[in-house]
Amino acid sequence: MLKRLKRRPRILTVQSTRQLSPHLLRVTFAGPELEGFPLKHEGANCKLVLPRDGESRADFEAYFAPDGPEEKVHPVRTYTVRSHRPDKLELDIDFVVHGDEGPATRWAQAAKPGSYLGFFGPSQTKIAEFYADWYLLAADLSAMPIVEATLEAMPDEARGVAVFEVPSAEDIRDIKAPKGIDITWLIHEDPHVPSTAQVAFVKSIDWRSGVLQTCIAGESSVIRSLRDYLHNDRKVPKKDTYISGYWKIGLVEDEHQKMKRAEAA
Ligand SMILES: Cc1cc2nc3c(=O)[nH]c(=O)nc-3n(C[C@H](O)[C@H](O)[C@H](O)COP(=O)(O)OP(=O)(O)OC[C@H]3O[C@@H](n4cnc5c(N)ncnc54)[C@H](O)[C@@H]3O)c2cc1C
Repeated sequence: MLKRLKRRPRILTVQSTRQLSPHLLRVTFAGPELEGFPLKHEGANCKLVLPRDGESRADFEAYFAPDGPEEKVHPVRTYTVRSHRPDKLELDIDFVVHGDEGPATRWAQAAKPGSYLGFFGPSQTKIAEFYADWYLLAADLSAMPIVEATLEAMPDEARGVAVFEVPSAEDIRDIKAPKGIDITWLIHEDPHVPSTAQVAFVKSIDWRSGVLQTCIAGESSVIRSLRDYLHNDRKVPKKDTYISGYWKIGLVEDEHQKMKRAEAA
């Protein structure tokens, strides 16, 4: 039996949803459960506990009571705090719309005002300090939230390159970024077919001198190739690179996390 976490999650309530593009859906949560939410944690990750199909809010909440069942029955998925407006007690999370077989994407697509889920976190932010001479950022849709939050937190004079890989031209959006960051969009229509486009793009850029910091995340095999290139070919020190596999073709999140733990061991 898998045991659930003993702590009670914040139970967040949906205020609204907005389609940012065909494959990216913003869910805005609001309400008193966001009192005391840590400030400046945009880009940090969190664990979302998803209600089971048809489960009432009362039953969901009862589950986390001190005398609730011990067994873990709810799917838990990792997401990113995209924006937080403490004055309004509002929080945004952006969900990739990638079909209806995953409980998180399914929950997001059905979400409407009043829908709810459990929230654990946030973690520490991934990039605590900006000290580089230039920056390299790369993301598919799942990592747009961390890369966009990072671009918004960077100093105005930051310089570098950002590459975003999305499934359609309609997923290209205006991104807030320092003027010195050159942005390129790549289109790869079927995210379930492995892509080499980001790696080819990164290998093609004019490599600059000085300290490089990265913020890179996305599909695991793309990340593996980018990590090899940065660490082995370009000798970028690990301490300057945030680079992380966020999902893997053909694996549900629990299987992907298990694979990452085995690789790290
Ligand atoms: C630190 C971290 C932060 C993350 N932040 C975000 C975020 O802010 N927004 C976000 O959308 N995702 C984010 N992810 C990725 C997210 O956790 C996974 O995509 C997760 O698998 C989604 O759960 P699910 O229930 O929808 O699908 P699962 O049940 O996990 O998987 C079902 C199927 O969908 C496929 N799949 C999963 N994700 C994708 C995808 N993005 N595109 C195409 N197919 C997919 C799987 O390979 C599997 O075949 C983050 C991951 C990590 C590790």
